[in-house]
Amino acid sequence: MLSERLLTILPELTFNEALEITKLQSVAGILPDDVSLVTKRPFRSPHHKASIISLLGGGQNPKPGEISLAHYGVLFLDELPEFSRSALESLRGPLEDAQITISRTNSTVTYPCNFIFMASMNPCPCGHLNDKKKACVCTPTQISNYKNKISGPILDRIDLHVEVERVDYKKLQSDEHLESSEQIRERVNRARKIQLERYESEGIISNSELSSVQIEKYCKLNDETKIFLENAFNVYGYSARTYSRILKIARTIADLEEKENIELQHVAEAIQYRTLDRSNANE
Ligand SMILES: [Zn+2]
Repeated sequence: MLSERLLTILPELTFNEALEITKLQSVAGILPDDVSLVTKRPFRSPHHKASIISLLGGGQNPKPGEISLAHYGVLFLDELPEFSRSALESLRGPLEDAQITISRTNSTVTYPCNFIFMASMNPCPCGHLNDKKKACVCTPTQISNYKNKISGPILDRIDLHVEVERVDYKKLQSDEHLESSEQIRERVNRARKIQLERYESEGIISNSELSSVQIEKYCKLNDETKIFLENAFNVYGYSARTYSRILKIARTIADLEEKENIELQHVAEAIQYRTLDRSNANE
């Protein structure tokens, strides 16, 4: 449910984005006859048994795969550890480059694939680790084998890790007032606008695209925050790539609060979203 709701808080499509999505659907032969311009961001959720060709694209007349059909939308992989290692590893390049080149003997095609990557997994094979109501029946080896199916390089490329607890039936029915998708989308749009203006001269549109040189320029930390981050690194054993992830996420959290500078609490929140790649995450 959470994954499908993500679409409702993403910024509306620009005309150029809509055009690109429409072209890709048309090339793939999935554009409905009565649609001349796609107006919604796509949500693709391929099965874990899907072939690498159907994920990445290819075939005799190379067609766009799921990653390109998710362009400017969401690619959701449910039960991530069920996907084959080779399928997951094949996503590394496209996640980094936001495009994929398919080579055939006599032709080469490049399709864009700038999507939000979203995935879900259980905490362990039986699904009840840390569950307050039901006991986990897995051995420590089973748990660590399960977690190790997702390689470090793939985890490195995922910005936010969030643990979701079992939801009480009673809680689902409560009429506790929560922020609506519409309100959240307004905040997202404001943060997007701040970034568009900040990066006007850089030729990029969002924090996720910041290069390491740009990170130094736009993600400055005060001394107190620097020391805090350094300590977190020593404790959790993060990789260098995680360092830039954390700064970009902190920049986004600050933008959502419309704060000009990244503050300690923004970095602290960003660190909370990096639970799975802590070097002691399996202990
Ligand atoms: Zn278990």
